[in-house]
Amino acid sequence: MAIEPQIVFADSSSEHPNIDADGIEALVTPRTRAIVAVHYAGNACEMNKILEIARRHDLVVVEDAAQAIDSYYADEPLGSLGAMATFSFHETKNIIAGEGGLLTLNQPQYIERAEIIREKGTNRSAFFRGEVDKYGWVDIGSSFLPADLIAAYLFAQLEYIDIIQSRRKAIWQRYWANLAGKLAGFGVALPTLPSGSDSNGHLFFLVCNTFEQRTALIERLKQDGVQAVFHYLSLHKSPFFEGKHDGRTLQNSDRFSDCLVRLPLFYELTDDQVDFICERVLANLSLLRST
Ligand SMILES: *Cc1c(COP(=O)(O)O)cnc(C)c1O
Repeated sequence: MAIEPQIVFADSSSEHPNIDADGIEALVTPRTRAIVAVHYAGNACEMNKILEIARRHDLVVVEDAAQAIDSYYADEPLGSLGAMATFSFHETKNIIAGEGGLLTLNQPQYIERAEIIREKGTNRSAFFRGEVDKYGWVDIGSSFLPADLIAAYLFAQLEYIDIIQSRRKAIWQRYWANLAGKLAGFGVALPTLPSGSDSNGHLFFLVCNTFEQRTALIERLKQDGVQAVFHYLSLHKSPFFEGKHDGRTLQNSDRFSDCLVRLPLFYELTDDQVDFICERVLANLSLLRST
């Protein structure tokens, strides 16, 4: 009888929203097959520790590098460290095609099946290479090939990747320079980068002191014409996982879910706008403290 696959959630680090690498090993059981590492905000997970745990327990490491194109860990590109990785070209990412993504495979044994899944469960790729004389259904799959127009759009983005990345990183640095040393009095923290992480400026976030402070800050920024947003709700608390999560409290994940706020970060954002946003963040936090 087939055993239902089960996702076991690991908590975030206390320092940053990425997985707490030191908490993984306690969750590994004989049924564990893979570790999925999400490189949140384009910041690297502690891959040395994660790869070492995977080696010891013979597990596959899957990197969710959706936000992490052109980010690095100890000078290695994210998405090149695990057995496989996914990237996103969704309109909210650094390099976009409207919708679409990329699967990278680090081990040749996965290539054939990936081709089949991409080609609707058929061996059409092998057929085009002349390896079989007709093609048919050999596995599950779906229609994952991008259309030519999407691919053309993406190609142009990739040609400009250095320009796009350097502007995004400059915006990220400007936020940092404007806010560093000015937030602690409000109990608000700047992002902490995991050691070894060289980030792609995908997003800039602050971690508020409380859920109420975050809610009020977002509301006030909105009145100033600044669209700041929070991001994900903890997956283990989502309706889909109700009754499936084993019930452990994931306190760091919950704290980031409640307190993280993203500031605007996109290619066209000007230095003056970044300065204005920072000025409004500080002014609003001040006002909130005195009310
Ligand atoms: C955007 C994103 C995804 C989904 O990417 P799609 O291209 O929309 O499938 C998955 N994981 C993370 C961390 C993301 O940021």
